[in-house]
Amino acid sequence: MDCIFCKIAKKELNSEVVYEDDDIIAFNDINPSAPVHILVVPKEHIESIAHLNGNHQGIISKIIFTAKKIAEDKKLVGYKLVFNVGREGGQIIDHLHLHLLGGWNK
Ligand code: AMP
Ligand code: ZN
Repeated sequence: MDCIFCKIAKKELNSEVVYEDDDIIAFNDINPSAPVHILVVPKEHIESIAHLNGNHQGIISKIIFTAKKIAEDKKLVGYKLVFNVGREGGQIIDHLHLHLLGGWNK
């Protein structure tokens, strides 16, 4: 499948990885909107929040807990977590991702 985040997850495309496990990869956004802008991405191709089903409860929870851990590791005092959903919601890449934005305190 021609999906840029699937390619990043499979290391077919380079990215600045900040966290990885069997289910998740997190990397720096290539065009940051904040001093710290990290994308937390499931390795499984899920199109968006609108495409979640009951089997995805575990992975969506893990994405949020991973963002929390990265924020703690990076000592972010406050931060924003954003899911853009669909074109009208500002989603450009159709592979679910959580934006972790912060670092204004540094
Ligand atoms: P969204 O608008 O929610 O779909 O966000 C997609 C994000 O992916 C944007 O913030 C882009 O800057 C970012 N992005 C696009 N291509 C790459 C890439 N190759 N590596 C890292 N971030 C990327
Ligand atoms: Zn994908």
